[in-house]
Amino acid sequence: MESALTARDRVGVQDFVLLENYTSEAAFIENLRKRFKENLIYTYIGSVLVSVNPYRELEIYTKNHMERYRGVNFYEVSPHIYAVADNSYRSMRTERKDQCILISGESGAGKTEASKKILQYYAVTCPASEQVQTVKDRLLQSNPVLEAFGNAKTLRNDNSSRFGKYMDIQFDFKGAPVGGHIINYLLEKSRVVHQNHGERNFHIFYQLIEGGEEDLLRRLGLERNPQQYQYLVKGNCPKVSSINDRSDWKVVRKALTVIGFNEDEVEELLNIIASVLHLGNVQYGGEEGNASITSDTQIKYLARLLGVNGAVLTEALTHKKIIAKGEELMSPLNLEQASSARDALSKAVYGRTFTWLVNKINASLTYTLHLLVIEVNRSFEQFCINYCNEKLQQLFIELTLKSEQEEYESEGITWEPVQYFNNKIICDLVEEKFKGIISILDEECLRPGDASDFTFLEKLEDTVGGHPHFVTHKLADGKTRKVMGRDEFRLLHYAGEVNYNVNGFLDKNNDLLFRNLKEVMCMSENKILTQCFDREELSDKKRPETAATQFKASLAKLMEILMSKEPSYIRCIKPNDSKQSGRFDEVLIRHQVKYLGLMENLRVRRAGFAYRRRYEVFLQRYKSLCPDTWPNWQGKLADGVAILVKHLGYKPEEYKLGRSKIFIRFPKTLFATEDALET
Ligand code: ATP
Ligand code: MG
Repeated sequence: MESALTARDRVGVQDFVLLENYTSEAAFIENLRKRFKENLIYTYIGSVLVSVNPYRELEIYTKNHMERYRGVNFYEVSPHIYAVADNSYRSMRTERKDQCILISGESGAGKTEASKKILQYYAVTCPASEQVQTVKDRLLQSNPVLEAFGNAKTLRNDNSSRFGKYMDIQFDFKGAPVGGHIINYLLEKSRVVHQNHGERNFHIFYQLIEGGEEDLLRRLGLERNPQQYQYLVKGNCPKVSSINDRSDWKVVRKALTVIGFNEDEVEELLNIIASVLHLGNVQYGGEEGNASITSDTQIKYLARLLGVNGAVLTEALTHKKIIAKGEELMSPLNLEQASSARDALSKAVYGRTFTWLVNKINASLTYTLHLLVIEVNRSFEQFCINYCNEKLQQLFIELTLKSEQEEYESEGITWEPVQYFNNKIICDLVEEKFKGIISILDEECLRPGDASDFTFLEKLEDTVGGHPHFVTHKLADGKTRKVMGRDEFRLLHYAGEVNYNVNGFLDKNNDLLFRNLKEVMCMSENKILTQCFDREELSDKKRPETAATQFKASLAKLMEILMSKEPSYIRCIKPNDSKQSGRFDEVLIRHQVKYLGLMENLRVRRAGFAYRRRYEVFLQRYKSLCPDTWPNWQGKLADGVAILVKHLGYKPEEYKLGRSKIFIRFPKTLFATEDALET
């Protein structure tokens, strides 16, 4: 076996803890570069896997590779995502502890691909009975469906996930996957009604239009031309060279069946997707203050597809119900209000259908290693996501420190405290009750009268203006900071500074859908929609929770789940912004190394000992170097190792012997031993 340790000059070190100059970012990046050039996209920081997107198909995901990583020692083979998957799986089985794998990185860094590779690994390597085979198939097939409805082409990634995802896989006592559960977070609903230049709506719309059978399209009243639909033309980008919508349609259609959707459900689902496209084409005219719908073509389709009364829908799309003195009055909407009511309906229908879809997939996976894959998308959304990252970072540092400390303790080695930046102060700034940013936002959302994005910003300045991680254009001496807009605030995140423009914060947080539009949806005969729009919402006098508060609550739940499991981490890096293979853009990569907290991670991991290895493994590898241990050491393992390292001339400050492992402080000690093996 060639040790990757010995080839370190050419291909770098396979674990960053082996870098001599471990505090140097330049050395870190140089190591990544060397490996990337050799198509070695994986490198460890201890048990954390760093992955650089190769933007090309590598021959490293074959069945042979899967076999190679089964049951092997993490450090004995070159780093691979399969090693992480296998390690989690084995820890689950042997230690009976729930595991989770946390995948992070920016858009296009390879998170989705990584999660798919892990699923494939389990699907191939785990034992399976016939019944389990169904679960495996469904787990695998849930991907194309979730991607069709939740992914879209963006400027940064042709297949960008526009929602956050947590996925659980449950294994039985034999280690066979018997179930799964997916939790979705914060779908970017605004994409349904608007796309930036060069971006698209969710894949499913194009798949349906390009791939849908003639009679299906006829029934849905759709034309085979995305340019016909207002919701699909905003980004001016109907076709993407890397995407074949037509063949993807077939895949998704089949996947729906495998997951267990019956024909009726598929029909209802497609009715909803088609309805959203028709809704987008509802045009308003009439007097400025009194919007009316110019053509009833769309309304006819909508009435049929949604199973609602056309006249009632028309009224709801042009009027708002006001209750005054106990009487209901219909007040006409102006053009702008009417368009935004229409768009709000489209977003609500799509968003809720997406959640329904996830629940449906979950129902098909009910039986249940907790594998956690969290993926996060990005803009008010950006704020939520960065908040999420801040929380995950906090957890990450806490858990990394904790597991280091626990290992030292269980090995009987004294723990030397490590200094690190605790980002709790930033989490508090966002989430604290009464005086955190989310609470202030909610307060403005609930305040009747003149509340606006601008008054929200003013309140922020009044309340958290003095916080060390919060900045606006106002300076303490009453002057203004020129580089910042008057409608922005800046947060000093642990990963760097981000400016947030407050425009749209209130609306997005409120996520309002007029009551009469909800009423219409509650009357729908579409079976999916009846599950998505609950009459109770109408009777409930209480205001629904705001988007930010819902998000905060789901994050808190997620943190709880994560705390109860043993985590593994995959940190994905995107090598360049042009989706090209072989291009290593150093500036971009340095930014991500910082943002992912990799240097901090390495520092914590290296604070004590660079390297540790179980006695039997260490002895097995190096026993040939000492006549007293070669060929077979008969005594206690620890004694054998002690004799071996003494013979090799290790100085006392260079190593420590724990209960079951040797700890080596500097990489050079280990390298010298490796080199001795070669000669
Ligand atoms: P987002 O946050 O936008 O969802 P992401 O991190 O999920 O981004 P992916 O969709 O996984 O990014 O990856 C983007 C593209 O990069 C993939 O479509 C694929 O072309 C390429 N890619 C990622 N990982 C790999 C890999 N291991 N091997 C080959 N290509 C890859
Ligand atoms: Mg993704």
